[in-house]
Amino acid sequence: MPSKPQPYRPPGYRPPSTAAYQSSPERRADMKFYNSAAWHATRHAFLKRFPLCATCEQEGRATKATEVHHHPKRKLLPPSEWHNFERLQGQCKSCHSKATRRGE
Ligand SMILES: [Zn+2]
Repeated sequence: MPSKPQPYRPPGYRPPSTAAYQSSPERRADMKFYNSAAWHATRHAFLKRFPLCATCEQEGRATKATEVHHHPKRKLLPPSEWHNFERLQGQCKSCHSKATRRGE
């Protein structure tokens, strides 16, 4: 009996769980928000006003914030709160990655 041929894997192929998110309506909605002019303006204004990483600052370090984090996470907030500075935190790339991995 011939063996089953391997499925074609295009360059950049990701495992199904990630691929499912990549092509999901959820991801499209996330990208639409993060690519919006409104979010770019909020992000820019926030980093101008709060230039340091909030997490590093709590630990006594002065690190430039390069990313803006929703706290609590955006999906727990109504859209009317997505641009509220009270719900945002400036973070460096390292702290933002850690917070995202913790599911915050
Ligand atoms: Zn930091």
